Parts: sequence; structure tokens; C-alpha cells
Amino acid sequence: MIIQLQSDISEAQRGKLLDQVNNIGYKTTSVKTQLGEYIIGIGKREFDIRKVGHLDGIRDIHIVSDEYKLVSKKWKAKPTAIDLGDNVAIKDGEMAIITGPCSIESEEQIRAVVDHCVENGIKMMRGGVFKPRSSPYAFRGLGLEGLKLWYEIAHEAGIKIVTEVMQTSQIEEMYPYVDVYQVGARNSQNFNLLDGLGTVDKAVMIKRGISGTIEELLQSAEYVFSGGNEKLILCERGIRTYEKASRNTLDLNAVPILKEKSHLPVIVDPSHGIGLRAFVPQMALAGVMAGADGVIYESHATPEKAFSDGQQTLDFEQSARLASWIRESFSMRKEFDLL
Ligand code: PEP
Ligand code: MN
Repeated sequence: MIIQLQSDISEAQRGKLLDQVNNIGYKTTSVKTQLGEYIIGIGKREFDIRKVGHLDGIRDIHIVSDEYKLVSKKWKAKPTAIDLGDNVAIKDGEMAIITGPCSIESEEQIRAVVDHCVENGIKMMRGGVFKPRSSPYAFRGLGLEGLKLWYEIAHEAGIKIVTEVMQTSQIEEMYPYVDVYQVGARNSQNFNLLDGLGTVDKAVMIKRGISGTIEELLQSAEYVFSGGNEKLILCERGIRTYEKASRNTLDLNAVPILKEKSHLPVIVDPSHGIGLRAFVPQMALAGVMAGADGVIYESHATPEKAFSDGQQTLDFEQSARLASWIRESFSMRKEFDLL
């Protein structure tokens, strides 16, 4: 059960409400976010919703049978829009394009990607400054100094920053320079990190775990929401299967399923999803047609020289073409949506 509270609920009304929910045998958790206040009731007993619904201070009450609650579409049919300011948003009905290198490498590289984004009307840039690498001897990123430099250049050009946060201690130091915190696949169930991101008021994009189910991704998002942050984006980035011909298997099924189960926007990452440069455009467009609200893919001036993930990174010419195909495919999809 989710009870949405009125913003002017009094302490006495809140106390009475909590007592009533506990009396029907439900455990309660209070959640306060940037946008509202909720009481989550967890229990199995059938009860007459009017026993609670008549109390003062309630805006609305919903029965949500899913394991995850706040991210479920069962109580909030209207899709959540993530507004990043300056007319940049990630939301249902629009197509977000996010591109950039796997790793932020140098000032020259940042300037080249920012220029590429500006030339192609792309408003959001990705890149890692803390890199989770399979080998500890591989390039591990430029760190906070790299992020500050990136911020200076990107913000002057009106480009928003999407970058991975790897641990709780980084949340605060990164805060001034980040528009969207990315939770990487390897951290998808790092519940301390998710708890920490619940306390900030900036958007969080959660990638599906390498062996994570759709439900586990939704539960990860539930963690952040219940910690107080509603600004969430879900990202399908491929899962590990028995197939070895591609780096991962981009689970396109997850896109419409997530859109049906949750009110949160859904992004696809075809770069990590297939891991093969030649097929990134096809999978990106397939993701658009599957119903995604955005695509995040890797690009670099000279992918063969990229410090990481060059094999799945597009050059700027390919990226420019893909960006316009994404937009065209999205217009076509909107016609299907009318069916
Ligand atoms: C990345 O976006 O470069 C990255 C490391 O992604 P993932 O966590 O999906 O592997
Ligand atoms: Mn990468």
C-alpha cells in the first residue's frame, strides 16, 4: 500500500494514520522525497481501504501488490519526467541522446566530444572519470580533477554531464559537477551506494546488473526512491548469457516490460549491450523501436585510440549519422504508438 500524504498534514493526523495502518497488521515506512511524502504499508492481510482512506491528511491511497512499490506504475500512471534544466529532459514522449567516450581522457578529448555534441544538437554527454575495470592494471580514470575540467568545458557549451559514481564517499564531492549520477552495472545492487543516492536531489541513472533481473533493477530503483530521491532513470545495458559471440546480450524485451511496470524513463545502452562497434547503430535503433525514452552510446574522435571500450565506440561521423537515425526512428515510432 502507498499512501500519499498532503503537504500540510499535521503531526496528530500523521500519528493517527500510522496507528490505523499498524492496527490492520501492516508495517509502515515513511518516505519523504523532493516531490512529496508517502507512507509505505507492507503486509498481506486483506482490508477495507476505506478504513484508512477516510482519515485526514491523505492525498491518495493505492494498493500496490508488486514487490517494488514507489517505482511501480500501479500507483502512478503518469510517466516520470526527469528535468535537467535548460530545456533538457529525459522523459516519455521525447528521445534523449547521450553520447561520449567510455573514459574521460584529456582536455583535448573533452573539447572534441563537446564540440561534436554541440554540432549535432546532442545535449547530454557521458564519460567515466572513475572507471571500474576488469583488470586493476587498466586505465582507472582521471578522477575528480578530470570531472571538474569536464564540467567547466561542458557547462559553458550547455551540455549536461552523465557520469558514474562508484562509491558513497564520491557522491558529495561529485555533486557540484554532475547532472546525472550513473550507477554502473557492477554496482547495481550496491545498496549502500543506492541509499546514499537517495539523499541527493540530482538525477540517478541505474544500469541493470550484469546478471540482474528486471525485477532486481526495479528494486534497486526502489531503494533510491525510498531514500528520498524520485529522479530516477532505468538503463538496459545488456546481461550476461551463455552467448559468447557478443560482449553481452542486450535484452530488448526489458524495454517495453520496464515501461509497462514502472513510471520511470527507460534508456538503452547498445554499446555495452552488444560490445561490437559495427552493430551498435542497429541495436540503438532496435531499442528506440522497442519503446526506449533515450539511447546512451559511446563515441570518440579516434575510437581505436580510446583508453577503454574502443571496440564498441563510434567515431564522430558514425555518431552524427546515428543521432539523426535515432531521431527519425523515434518520429516513426510515435506513429506506431498511435496504433
Ligand atoms: C560505462 O558506461 O562505461 C560502463 C562501465 O558501463 P556498465 O556499468 O554498464 O558496464
Ligand atoms: Mn564503457
